[in-house]
Amino acid sequence: MAEDIKTFYKWIKDSKNIVFFGGAGVSTESGIPDFRSDTGLYAQIPEVMLSHSFYESSTAEFYRFYKDKMIFTDVKPNKAHYKLAELEKSGKLKAVITQNIDGLHQAAGSVNVLELHGSVHRNYCRKCKKSYGLDSIINASSVPLCECGGIIKPDVVLYEEPLDLAVYDKAVRYIADCDLLIVGGTSLAVQPAASLVMAYTGSRLVLINISPTPYDDYAYIIIKGKIGEVLGGISC
Ligand code: NAD
Repeated sequence: MAEDIKTFYKWIKDSKNIVFFGGAGVSTESGIPDFRSDTGLYAQIPEVMLSHSFYESSTAEFYRFYKDKMIFTDVKPNKAHYKLAELEKSGKLKAVITQNIDGLHQAAGSVNVLELHGSVHRNYCRKCKKSYGLDSIINASSVPLCECGGIIKPDVVLYEEPLDLAVYDKAVRYIADCDLLIVGGTSLAVQPAASLVMAYTGSRLVLINISPTPYDDYAYIIIKGKIGEVLGGISC
């Protein structure tokens, strides 16, 4: 493991075109629970509550649970977010591709962030398409309504909803072109996001995760550890 981390840090030094692809595990060290760990969200609520059909059939209940379990207003980026922002600033890292919806990469200073599953910070009226910030959801007593009477919906991809194809295609291109792909803090259980790993054809794929993933066989280095600690150890 120590050898693997050394090799990983050396690869970072050598690389000129790094891409990071991550998920909920990147934000657990900031205090946001992931989905599939023992203490994750799915230990508290059924997965179906994050589906489009649940949103349509039980709209008020959806917003109650969404506000309670999916929105975190007093969290801060951790060492992983900050190191990725630093790597981008140094010119080595070209893109952060994330399944997260919390906006913590941007809060840490990352600029080129591809949000595959949207963001809690973007919301829009389903009727007139007016954009709203997070306050419109937080301050609503029940279902948030636009001034036109339409429902304000988070720009977050629920199960049964398609990804933004333009963002997905851009992510494929960044991964296909990079010389070092770092994948971390994701169970790689959610498709089609997880299959993005397969767009990488190079020989430097590093996977940093606490638990095993279905894509472990494709990784050249597997680091079983906390992503904030592992990335935090990189010297730019
Ligand atoms: P997941 O819960 O399925 O997997 C998280 C993975 O991260 C697990 O394998 C876990 O072992 C690992 N992990 C947890 N903490 C870690 C740490 N400190 N260091 C290294 N590994 C760690 O989450 P996922 O793969 O991102 O996919 C599920 C969906 O979760 C995504 O669609 C995403 O939209 C959504 N989600 C987002 C947030 C967020 O925005 N912060 C939070 C929860 C879920």
